[in-house]
Amino acid sequence: MAEEKTKKKKKIRSYPILVLCGFYAAIFAVMLIYISAYSYNNRQVLMDNSFNTRQQILLKQNSRGRILSRDGDVLAYSEVGEDGKEKRVYPYGKEFAHVVGYSTNGKAGIEALANYYLINTSIDLSEKVALDTQGSKYPGDYCVTTLDVDLQEVAYNALSARKGAVVVTNPKTGEVLAMVSKPDYDPGTIQQEWDSLIADTSPDAKLLNRATQGLYPPGSTFKIVTSLAYIKEHQQDYNNYRFSCVGRFNYEGESISCYHGENHGSLDFIKSFAESCNSSYANIGLSIPRNVFADTLDQLLFNQELPIDVLYSKSSAHIDDNTSVGDVMQLSIGQGATSMTPMHLNMITCAIANEGELMKPYFVSGIKSEDGKNVKNYSPENYKRLMSALQADTLKGMMRQVVETGTASKLKGLSYTAAGKTGSAEFNTSTSDSHAWFTGFAPADDPEICVTIIVEDAGSGGSFAVPIAKRIFDAFFGVE
Ligand SMILES: [Zn+2]
Repeated sequence: MAEEKTKKKKKIRSYPILVLCGFYAAIFAVMLIYISAYSYNNRQVLMDNSFNTRQQILLKQNSRGRILSRDGDVLAYSEVGEDGKEKRVYPYGKEFAHVVGYSTNGKAGIEALANYYLINTSIDLSEKVALDTQGSKYPGDYCVTTLDVDLQEVAYNALSARKGAVVVTNPKTGEVLAMVSKPDYDPGTIQQEWDSLIADTSPDAKLLNRATQGLYPPGSTFKIVTSLAYIKEHQQDYNNYRFSCVGRFNYEGESISCYHGENHGSLDFIKSFAESCNSSYANIGLSIPRNVFADTLDQLLFNQELPIDVLYSKSSAHIDDNTSVGDVMQLSIGQGATSMTPMHLNMITCAIANEGELMKPYFVSGIKSEDGKNVKNYSPENYKRLMSALQADTLKGMMRQVVETGTASKLKGLSYTAAGKTGSAEFNTSTSDSHAWFTGFAPADDPEICVTIIVEDAGSGGSFAVPIAKRIFDAFFGVE
């Protein structure tokens, strides 16, 4: 009897323990499934973590793969130096510095983007055996980019010793054809110069890719955004808009001047855009319902993540019921607290060129093994419609007028028809120092190339950024 009681007691006592064991076993199983699934889904991210020993093992076994231009020119390769150590060689030196990036002291650019493939190899087993007998490493898979050496060279040389950035893309596919940022660094000697490069946190920092990370006041290029907000409200009657510019616009004690105080006289909507009249645009901006302006900013990806696979900064532009009249006027002409990256402006321009549809920008078109196998192919991807086809067409017509009768007349009468918008963005209100901007595309009726340029502290966009665009368009269309 006494024995039975103890047995019962034991049973009762062991029941919670069993439940607890079962509970822990279940948690353990769930975690195991989670970790396995996470590792599988994020295998590329895990491997790219530089503390990951798997990466070190792969680097001992495989030599880092090459990076090629769209036409097969070698932009980066690895070779064994006299000291027996593998080193990375960049045949074009500084020219591709920011876009191709680097792979020592961390990684950036395409070196970071394609790292997983560059350190892995997909060559056949028989090839591996042959290399093993020679005591050689396996060649890592190589990466074919969308970059065009000729366009990159022209953009690089055209920016000369100036600070700034150039982005060249294909609006129909999203392919990035060229990307330049200055000041730059030599990726071949980055290891030796690393300490001084990272110590520089000034606005002149060389490691900063100004094309995707540089936040600038967009100045008059932002009139594209203000125009879209206005067109949304006035698609049928924007042609009825009239304004008389006296070189300055005053409203409720706030004041906006036209560039260099120029008096633009009598203007309609399209002429206000073509001649880039600040007074007229402050007036237009104030007439747009604030929720419509705010929706337009959302629609054009301000204050949001962008679909780009390299390091970038988020552009910033705000308007709500609490925004002051002065700030609305500044926003309308892309000044004040508004800031934007050249890459983002290029994306908006591409959407206009591509009937409103933004293609996801991309840098890598394929990964191949050194024995000729296709490992992975990347195709053009629709990202999002940024505006209706009709709105895109209206803006395109306005950007044509900028070339025909406005501030980008240096692109007029050429063998191709260009369209675009200039900007002279003041960054120092006391001295009126300005960055020169241009963003545009060609041929206007069926755009194949989209170019965005900023030249820091240069002056007007029409004088300093448009000639760079012309050199890039000329090179693209084979004009001597
Ligand atoms: Zn004006």
